[in-house]
Amino acid sequence: MTVLCVDFGGTEIKLGMLDDANILTSATLPNTGNEADLDAVRDAAFRMSTASESPIDAVGIAVPGVVDRKRGALVAAHDKYDWATGRDLRVWATETFDVPAVIENDARAALLGETTFGCAAGETDAVLVTLGTGIGTAALIDGVLLRGAHDHAGILGGHITVDIDGPVCNCGNTGCAEAIASTWALRRDAAADPVLAAALGTEAQHLGIKDLIAHADHPVVAPVLDRYLRAWGAAIVGVCHAYDPDVVIVSGGVMRSADVLLPRLTEYVHSHLWSSSFRPPLLTPDAPEHSVLLGLSAAAPRKDLP
Ligand SMILES: [Zn+2]
Repeated sequence: MTVLCVDFGGTEIKLGMLDDANILTSATLPNTGNEADLDAVRDAAFRMSTASESPIDAVGIAVPGVVDRKRGALVAAHDKYDWATGRDLRVWATETFDVPAVIENDARAALLGETTFGCAAGETDAVLVTLGTGIGTAALIDGVLLRGAHDHAGILGGHITVDIDGPVCNCGNTGCAEAIASTWALRRDAAADPVLAAALGTEAQHLGIKDLIAHADHPVVAPVLDRYLRAWGAAIVGVCHAYDPDVVIVSGGVMRSADVLLPRLTEYVHSHLWSSSFRPPLLTPDAPEHSVLLGLSAAAPRKDLP
């Protein structure tokens, strides 16, 4: 079965044609932040289907926000996807490609991908934390992806308050981990702090967390990276206290620097967990850029089923 997987990310849209874990072909489109992106996805998907001689049997769509699974709609993303909010993307996919479709929160899809095909394959109790533009989380308990009564369960771990005196988050809460340690938080802070911006050597609006890591030895940057690690660690401790996992998957492009980040995160988490809590290993995917596509391939409805 060939699944067209579409990952609507913060800065780009990733497409893949997958047969289970096998990526037949993939492409990347810019996220322009408007509805015309759907036309670009449609055109690219048909080109990929033709080039790989693989008819599309199902579609999986991931979005960076809360998904109302009953309505097939993005409920709230707080950034870049105003055009999609409230729109039934499952209907769009079904009508465009004439196949069944599924829509999922991107962190839940990534967790499903990594526990089905990836670095935590076979695990039934796992949490995923993805670090980058924002902080996404998801939880799998007893083999079931946590959704809750209103589809919000498990995915708001980045919005655990880690500093009650911290900055107001774009979600409306105060001192969320994401409001302290994410790409958008870094750009906000660097724009307000010329000394930090100069130390990072990049204009504030183009900064990424990789710039913090690249300048980690700078005396101005080192305490900032340390604060990021503690904020991420506190959020991971929070989701571990909530969900009691056997394994924690830490993902996101920033984990290309896993050799720098994972030991420090693991040390923070293991030293701050409840005394009798299991100390789960922190893992990072071999190819974090593929986690979501793999999960959508696993979640996609089969054509021959209702
Ligand atoms: Zn928040």
